[in-house]
Amino acid sequence: KLFNEIQDLKGNIRVYCRIRPFLPGQREKRTSVEHVGENGELVVADRSKPGKEGHRLFKFNKVFGSDATQAEVYSDTQPLIRSVLDGYNVCIFAYGQTGSGKTYTMTGPNSSTKENWGVNYRALNDLFDISQRRKSSITYEIGVQMVEIYNEQVRDLLSGDGTQKKYPSVPDASMHPVKSTSDVIQLMGLGLKNRVVSATALNERSSRSHSVVTVHVRGMDLKTGSALIGNLHLVDLAGSERVDRSEVIGDRLKEAQHINKSLSALGDVIFALSQKSSHVPYRNSKLTQVLQSSLGGQAKTLMFVQLNPETSSYSESLSTLKFAERVA
Ligand code: ADP
Ligand code: MG
Repeated sequence: KLFNEIQDLKGNIRVYCRIRPFLPGQREKRTSVEHVGENGELVVADRSKPGKEGHRLFKFNKVFGSDATQAEVYSDTQPLIRSVLDGYNVCIFAYGQTGSGKTYTMTGPNSSTKENWGVNYRALNDLFDISQRRKSSITYEIGVQMVEIYNEQVRDLLSGDGTQKKYPSVPDASMHPVKSTSDVIQLMGLGLKNRVVSATALNERSSRSHSVVTVHVRGMDLKTGSALIGNLHLVDLAGSERVDRSEVIGDRLKEAQHINKSLSALGDVIFALSQKSSHVPYRNSKLTQVLQSSLGGQAKTLMFVQLNPETSSYSESLSTLKFAERVA
């Protein structure tokens, strides 16, 4: 409801920016973040230029400074999660260079401390909570899928037993019914493990593939018998850093090209939606095909734009901000 009330002219697309804090032990402490405003303003500075010459202003729906907690970030996300139980499709994704905090925002550093939970666990926890409260009038079934998209191939991260193929959105991936947050923690733990297993030591795959958790919610109104169907895509995107063509060869170049293609396809889809364009180019990448049901139409989309704070990341930060600005 809140989300509908604060909707802007661009419709159902919101953009939140989050700045990662400096990490313990990190030597460099010079930041390119000049100012974080209350109303979504962000000023970044190119420190190689004198004074205000290098300053650039961006405007988003919200900017979370480096001291924002997981709970604070989630409180502005919660209204979207609730709307999934009312039958809306929602897509939440994190965009930014490797090391900018995408996984921290979406999943958190680990699942063991609730305080550190990212959007994924908090969202599922809320879905169970609210469905429990509504159970005298609506019964809900919740199912989870988890896939990885790597080089334009979709891979099921949860294959094994418990397989059910009931929903069409990621057709070949196994569907796992869940009843509680601990079920979800267990499943996502398995998914994360499967993701890591396939990575070689030198080739940190998680930064070069997209991970997509899809939550299917089916509610049945006990009085009317009518069904409410909503789905939620939670996406941890591949790192957006540009790869120097002269430095990469073979597989690494292919990976870079696939990432590039899918991230620009995603940008093009969201841009088309923000322009209310009649043609939305979903077919240009696996990523946009998988997310199609939660991008456009009545669906609500939230993008977290993740930034590294240090001056040495300035040029990557700027390209991240330009990507986001196009759709914000
Ligand atoms: P990405 O997924 O974009 O590559 P990560 O989420 O892995 O980045 O973050 C990189 C490092 O920074 C990790 O060690 C992570 O725990 C830490 N980190 C990221 N965001 C925060 C934050 N808001 N507070 C504390 N540590 C963070
Ligand atoms: Mg990550």
